[in-house]
Formats: sequence, C-alpha cells, structure tokens
Amino acid sequence: MPLSCGHDAPAYGVPVCEHIRTATAALDHYLHYTGHGVERRRLCGKCRPEADAAVAGEVCEECFYASEGGSLGVLGRPEVVDAPRPVAGTVTATPLPEEAGEVVDIAPVHGGFVLLSGDGRLLRWDPEAGTCAEVARTGVSVPADAEPWCGHEQALRLHASRDGAFAAVVVDHGRRGEVFDLATGAVTLALENDGYHSNTVPFSLAFSEHEGRALVLHRTNWSVIEVADPATGERLVRLPADDPASAWSGYFHGALHPSPAGTRLASDAWLWSPVGRTVAWNLTQWLTEGERAWEGDIGWSTLPDCAYLWDRPVVWLDEDRLVLGWLGEDDLEKAPGARVFDLAAPGRDGTDPVETAAFGGPEGRFFAADGLLYTASEAGLDIWDPAAGTRLGSLPGFRPTHHDPARGELVELSALGIRRWRTPGAAV
Ligand SMILES: [Zn+2]
Ligand SMILES: [Zn+2]
Repeated sequence: MPLSCGHDAPAYGVPVCEHIRTATAALDHYLHYTGHGVERRRLCGKCRPEADAAVAGEVCEECFYASEGGSLGVLGRPEVVDAPRPVAGTVTATPLPEEAGEVVDIAPVHGGFVLLSGDGRLLRWDPEAGTCAEVARTGVSVPADAEPWCGHEQALRLHASRDGAFAAVVVDHGRRGEVFDLATGAVTLALENDGYHSNTVPFSLAFSEHEGRALVLHRTNWSVIEVADPATGERLVRLPADDPASAWSGYFHGALHPSPAGTRLASDAWLWSPVGRTVAWNLTQWLTEGERAWEGDIGWSTLPDCAYLWDRPVVWLDEDRLVLGWLGEDDLEKAPGARVFDLAAPGRDGTDPVETAAFGGPEGRFFAADGLLYTASEAGLDIWDPAAGTRLGSLPGFRPTHHDPARGELVELSALGIRRWRTPGAAV
C-alpha cells in the first residue's frame, strides 16, 4: 500500500501532518506524543491547538527530509501504564552525625557509609553502631573562578569502593580529583584530566572489581579511560590512543557505569556535533587481555544518539541489560521515559544492541535492583517493571540519591540526614 506521500516505499521516521507533508519549504515541527504508549508524530504550528485531533501519515525517506525544519519542542506526553502492587516497607530516617558538619556527599560501603564533609574531611560512619571517625582529608575543591557550562555547575562528588577500603573525591564538570586509601588516609592517585571540554561531563570515575580486587577507572584525557590499582595508583590498562579509524575514537567520555558484577562498562559520552551517545564494552576482557583487546571484538556497543543530550540517567539491570533515561533523539524533543537494551543481543549492524522495551514515565535518578527499575523524581520514588514497561507503585516524597546494593537499600541524602528504604527483593 502506498504511503500518505503517494510513494510505494518503506515508511521512514515518524508520521507527519499533511501541512508538513505538502510543504514546499522547510517547516518547523513539534514532536507530538499521542498518549498511546510511546507513539509520536510530527505536527506543525497550525496543528498545535488541536494536536490530539490532528491527522498524520507515514512518508518515505525522501519526503520525510524534503520539508524538514527545526524542532519546536514536545507536545503531549508518552503514556504511563500503571499496574499497581502494594509497596511494602517503610522509609526510616537517621540524622547525620553531628561531628560531620555539612555533608556534601555520601557513599554506601561495607559496614556503613563514607561521608564527605564541606570542609574536606572524609569520615567513616556506621549509623547502626553510632560511630563516626575521620579517615582522610582532601585538598580537592571547586575552583573559585569556575564558570558553569550550560548550567553544569562544578561540584564535589564522592565515590568509594564497595568494601570501603578506597574512596575518591572528584570535581564533576571539572579537572581534578584524588583517590584515597582509607586505611591510612594517604592519597594514592592524584587525578587531573586534560581539561579539554571537561566542563561538559561529570568527572569520569568509578570503582569496580576484578578477581576480588578493587579497581578505579578514570578519564585522563577527553577520549582515554584508564584503570588503576587504588592501593598504589599503578596503571593497569588504558584505552588505546585516539585513532580516527577505530570505532571507539572521538568520544568525550562522561559518567562511567560499571555493570553490577563489573563485566561490562558503559560511558555516557558525547561526540561532535555534539551528540550524546552512551557506549559500552566488555570490561572483563579489557582487564584480562589489556590494550590488545581493542584490536578484536571487545563487545563494543553504541546506544542511540540524542542530539545535545548526555549526562542522562543510566543504570544496569544486570550484566547484559542497560537502561537509558529519556525518550527522543534530540534534547529539544526529550520526554520522560526509559529505554532498555540487551547488550548480549547485538542488532543488525553488530554494535547497536537490541532495544527490548521503551516506555513513558520514568524521570529523575535511576536505580535498579532485583530486575526492577526505580526512579526518583521531584514527586518521589516510582517502581517499574522494565520488561512490561509498567509502573508497579510509588513512594511519594521519597527521593533517593544513592543505592546501597549490599544492604538492598535506596538512600536519600538531605541536609537533615539520610532516609532509607529496603527494596522488596532484597534479603531481610
Ligand atoms: Zn500541520
Ligand atoms: Zn514519499
């Protein structure tokens, strides 16, 4: 059957209204979510007042681009499908220890938390035992003359290894950081990236584990991630130098997300023009084979582009499935939602993984536990089935900032203290 443009060709892109289809010059468009699942189409300004009643038809690739103008934004919202179940458990509140003063960030570790205080102290806090002790002190701070790039303020961020042996303080959207051995308080690795567009991304840093040993991953220059031993600062592996002929080149690496067991690594990166593109590869293989792993198949995966958007919610459901926040292919056309990809199932071109679900609703910070997706927006916590794309329940007013997978808790840090809630699948 011919398309609405009259051509007998495959449908391309999203359906467009008849004004766009028949325009003889470029016509700006809205991306309209119809409210049926994630269905969307392009409507012109004339269609806007009665968007839901507007008619749009599929067109071929040539006709799709023939009158393509700029984006005017989003109309409507993707559908949120509720499939409520009772939400068990209660949110418990614990005041922060007085000796910590202002707490800038926390990191859940074995036996409690590491706290970063506003005066640069790192403290080990066991809220159950009520103990709190200084374990290190950082000299890293946000430069007084730091200029935010597009609203991305420079800010201190704390990371820690799961066993609580090591921590790192970095300047997100900045250049500097330090890795600490918390047994001695010593700086084992002073971090400084090259500063090339470093204000566009959070400081790439993550702890992971390989064969029972803690590792720290960090960005040394815009396109190079290195893995080091946090006990000594010794470099273990690094990405090969940028080589425009290779698939992994040209990426400005951003937030790093190791999978829960550390077998894969995702980087929420961007590349010119600029376009955000999350990429992932096999971390175990890289650590085992070293730099030469990049000469063969390292499980390199590229997730769909989104123009001008990165530093987005990213979370692993397990070792294979990665969830990206936001629907849409352009920052101007993003809508709250989640997209789920199976990296063990490469798509047609071998590097784009299969998208197993896309659904509307999730926004804010993303967490995952026991196969479920948890999202924390201004309104509070929502719980999602990432296979069915349905919302299973909510905890209004609870806005977790951190996940403690070992204790199976979501943790909200505020000026008043921490609030915690146990995820339902976690062992009691
Ligand atoms: Zn129209
Ligand atoms: Zn056509």
